[in-house]
Amino acid sequence: MGIDQSPPVDISEADAAKELMRLAKAIAKHDRLYHSKDDPEISDQEYDALVRRNAALEAQFPHLVREDSPSKKVGHAVGSSPLGKVTHEVRMMSLDNGFSDEEIHEWVARVRRFLSLPEDEPVPITAEDKIDGLSCSLRYEAGKLVRAATRGDGQVGEDVTANVAHIADIPQEIGGDHVPDIFEVRGEVYMSKQDFAALNAAQEEAGAKLFANPRNAAAGSLRQKDASVTAKRPLRFWAYGWGTASEVPANTQHDVMRQIEAWGFPVSPFLKVTDTVEEMLAHYAEIGRQRPDLPYEIDGVVYKVDRLDWQQRLGFVAKAPRWALAHKFPAEQAETTLEAIDIQVGRTGKLTPVGRLAPVMVGGVTVTNVTLHNRDEIERLGVRPGDRVVVQRAGDVIPQVVRNLTPEVEREPYNFPDTCPECGSEAVAEEGEVDVRCTGGLICPAQRTERLKHFVSRKALDIDGLGEKTIDQFFALGWLESPADIFRLRGRKDAILALEGWQDKSVDNLLASVESKREPDAARLLFGLGIRHVGEVTARDLLKNFQTLPALRKAAEQACAGDDEAFAEITSIDGVGGAVVEALGDFFHEAHNVEVWEDLLSLVSPPPYVVETLDSPVAGKTVVFTGKLATMSRDEAKAQAERLGAKAAGSVSAKTDLLVAGPGAGSKLKKAQELGIKVIDEAGWADIVEEAG
Ligand code: ZN
Repeated sequence: MGIDQSPPVDISEADAAKELMRLAKAIAKHDRLYHSKDDPEISDQEYDALVRRNAALEAQFPHLVREDSPSKKVGHAVGSSPLGKVTHEVRMMSLDNGFSDEEIHEWVARVRRFLSLPEDEPVPITAEDKIDGLSCSLRYEAGKLVRAATRGDGQVGEDVTANVAHIADIPQEIGGDHVPDIFEVRGEVYMSKQDFAALNAAQEEAGAKLFANPRNAAAGSLRQKDASVTAKRPLRFWAYGWGTASEVPANTQHDVMRQIEAWGFPVSPFLKVTDTVEEMLAHYAEIGRQRPDLPYEIDGVVYKVDRLDWQQRLGFVAKAPRWALAHKFPAEQAETTLEAIDIQVGRTGKLTPVGRLAPVMVGGVTVTNVTLHNRDEIERLGVRPGDRVVVQRAGDVIPQVVRNLTPEVEREPYNFPDTCPECGSEAVAEEGEVDVRCTGGLICPAQRTERLKHFVSRKALDIDGLGEKTIDQFFALGWLESPADIFRLRGRKDAILALEGWQDKSVDNLLASVESKREPDAARLLFGLGIRHVGEVTARDLLKNFQTLPALRKAAEQACAGDDEAFAEITSIDGVGGAVVEALGDFFHEAHNVEVWEDLLSLVSPPPYVVETLDSPVAGKTVVFTGKLATMSRDEAKAQAERLGAKAAGSVSAKTDLLVAGPGAGSKLKKAQELGIKVIDEAGWADIVEEAG
């Protein structure tokens, strides 16, 4: 439709940071709802809109990408699945996304830089269409299918071996030449557009629930406890890669895929090797042109570096490989009426406006809600309830308002509330800030319950059975004044039992699940407290360094009291800066927070954080690279260090164990020598890498 796929977002950096924070929270919440209930609160389209908005902001402000960013997470956790769990030996990654041609050029340039390739060296890259289904890993041992698993969160998936037995595209046995002893074929389970339409028609006739799109239908059909339900659903499969392999049958992505095809698996009809960015973009355009006529839904094109030795060197960052990229198709738009604007109050007190729409089909999916982000966004769009608006969903399923169609006439603008709809406190935007926040703090029930919900969420303490409704209910009864009160619930067993809807078993389950967290992971506990700038990854990095929460608190307080050494120790942790120190300082400065902290630590005993060590000479050590490296880029060197279990830091401090110095090393080398830190050259580093295998 000729819409720019990644328009720059018109937003200040401060606003972007805040919005990213809010998006991370919202997406985590909906992940939880989606996977713990069958009936999520928002549609897939709305969910994807949040993810897309997050991606757009991160693309524009790469330095604001949060440690707890949803873009660093893969798929869903399988905690509440009725299916068995399967741990993937080789993690199932997700893909980074690109939207504009420039991003594709930039990605290829990045690959070149990482590999230190000369400008004229061709970089062959495979391109194929990205089918919209459910990722699945199929393990073959001695040619026989022994296990099938969904991606899950990338590390642990669900066992769907019995379910895939009914998918005709998946061979139960593979034979012929070159079948390794162990080989995991990875691909997508999907449903064709036609089969999806027929299934929904049958569901409707039977008075059963309709599926929102083919992907949901495929996922819902595969993830069935009763495999005979799966058997009745017309599922298909195609392969796009592989996982664990005792032997890889070729040296390039393309040739391995052709071998997988020869074993009897369907692969993308568009799969081909391209040699230039121009060829990649031409293939993308061609696939886009054919997209409406394809019998299945696709949402983009996937590029992969063809040479497997290069893939190996490029490795991974966070959740995604550096050697692959998904080039998404552009947004689709439609007109509808904005019927109402609702205000939601979050954990930090932020008032977020949500637009309720007259339902409208956008690219084949019904959209009913849009996020309006904040007060300024409403002002910028000039929208009021009743206005005609253009909504857009990008990627495959999305909603945001891009334009107001209502003619500009003299009228009262929308009145953004100046009081909190939940507690009635004044709601204000601080000087220079765009977000309007409830000033009620601890008296605001919305903020308090949102904090409790964060505390028990999957990425924090992960307390099963303490859902949003239960928290709201217990909170209203005055049983949950602070997170610590969760650990006092066992004293209220009879009172809980007396509530409607609770039975012995459900109360026992809840209390058992609380009791199982008496010795919680310290990093999760820290993350659960919701301290600004302390996301999931930062919390873990802090604990890796300080081992215990009291040690971290001591260092943070010293650092904020002007102790340079304590400040340096915290900020020497890769990815942790002054903002984290300040946020920790602010947190411990509040008497109330200290009270909650001490109360909590009197009820739970997180064991000291143990750093996982690999069997490598630099495992657990802190390595700094400086000077010019001849055989690899700085990024590749850091990635190698991380692969060996070492921490790659940016600056030399007393915590540094090893300095790898190339020619031209300056102040870092001098400092390392002063501190008596071991210094080696690039060849010495290569020996370590080789030794570790
Ligand atoms: Zn409030």
